[in-house]
Amino acid sequence: MSEIRLGVLALQGAFREHIAMLKRLNVEAAEVRLARELDDLDGLIIPGGESTSMGLVAERWGLVEPLRRWVHGGKPTWGTCAGMILLAERATGQKLGGQALIGGLDVTVNRNYFGRQVDSFEADLDVPALGDRPFHAVFIRAPAITSVAEDVETLSTVAALHDEDHSVIAAVRKGPILATAFHPELTDDLRWHRYFVQMVKDSKSCAG
Ligand code: GLN
Repeated sequence: MSEIRLGVLALQGAFREHIAMLKRLNVEAAEVRLARELDDLDGLIIPGGESTSMGLVAERWGLVEPLRRWVHGGKPTWGTCAGMILLAERATGQKLGGQALIGGLDVTVNRNYFGRQVDSFEADLDVPALGDRPFHAVFIRAPAITSVAEDVETLSTVAALHDEDHSVIAAVRKGPILATAFHPELTDDLRWHRYFVQMVKDSKSCAG
């Protein structure tokens, strides 16, 4: 038994890949489709995929309120790509209403910042929190964070679209919430998963 138990929201998108990464770290990981499956978890990953579809399925299955309670209750949560969009308090480029579905992270995301023109690209990011070696990040129809509240920590940036002299934010942390615009579960590099596992362990030892 691992000391923590993580869940990966499994409504749509790249949830299997996250579970495979966690298994490589010997962390117990379960697919989450029902509200009650959140009950005995120490942390949750909301994967990449398509935020509108994921939101619709979450609504249909009665998961929106339980997920809000989970995130707003301070439980460790990591959103990757579409998952990051769902955690944002504000989103631009939304298909529906423009309202964040789960919220909790005080940032503005542009939902398809890189998506309209470049479907997918890869970039080596400096991420001091992960050490000296750059992280090779895979961006797929990726969002970007265009503004953050003062107390949100920027963990990494990436060159802005069409403007190498400027950057947009690609990864942030605020307390127990982690968000990345790219897909660490589609690489071989376990460092982001290890980072989140450590966040969950720290939160558990504080709580308990
Ligand atoms: N831009 C997509 C969305 O709106 C997210 C893409 C992804 O998760 N790879 O949901």
